[in-house]
Amino acid sequence: MSITQINQNLIQVNRWRFVNAFLVREDDGFTLVDTTVRGGADEFVAAARGAGGEIKRIALTHGHGDHVGSLDALKERLGGSVEVLIPELDARILDGEKVVEGKPSGSWPTVKTKPDVRLKEGDRVGSLEVVSSPGHTPGHVAFLDTRDRTLIAGDVFTSYGHVAVTSHFYLRFPFATMATQDRGADLESARKLRGLDPSALLVGHGPATRDPGAAMDAAIAAAQRAAS
Ligand SMILES: [Zn+2]
Repeated sequence: MSITQINQNLIQVNRWRFVNAFLVREDDGFTLVDTTVRGGADEFVAAARGAGGEIKRIALTHGHGDHVGSLDALKERLGGSVEVLIPELDARILDGEKVVEGKPSGSWPTVKTKPDVRLKEGDRVGSLEVVSSPGHTPGHVAFLDTRDRTLIAGDVFTSYGHVAVTSHFYLRFPFATMATQDRGADLESARKLRGLDPSALLVGHGPATRDPGAAMDAAIAAAQRAAS
């Protein structure tokens, strides 16, 4: 696990050098955005305590295995003291409901934990605003910190080497594209997130990008070329 303080409200927790979760500071403790793969529960609790608080909420960008992996173990540890928030459509897929034709793309593990809240566009999670950004998964959401316009964009973008949209193959990290459900919708979501004019871009896979406007523009242009 490696911990990077992004700004006063945000800590990036990276596991296995390939997947990130985020601790977002609030008055009552932390919101953990995503949980990476299995085996991370103790590390997340320790990281939050090390930064001076407890995990009060767990909010997911989407339901893929590399983002929900430590959810059940965290819920077991934290019990009723933690609220779990999962995007509406992805919660329904995890619940075994059929929301797309055929098998949904990417890995959808069995998750015992039921969400307390099913997230939709415009909901608030502490200081974070929920931004619906479907495509990578049917229910994918991003989180915009309303205090400083930091954007946690989940798997709409990756940032290894440079920022890329997951709607097209990029050799540094092809896995995210293979797992993408609807590439057209994913690219549309990338444009929507760019339009938020974020001050920093945080993603599920790759390092933080400050002042990401130009990098997001270039990523969207490359994705558009690949799609045409
Ligand atoms: Zn991912």
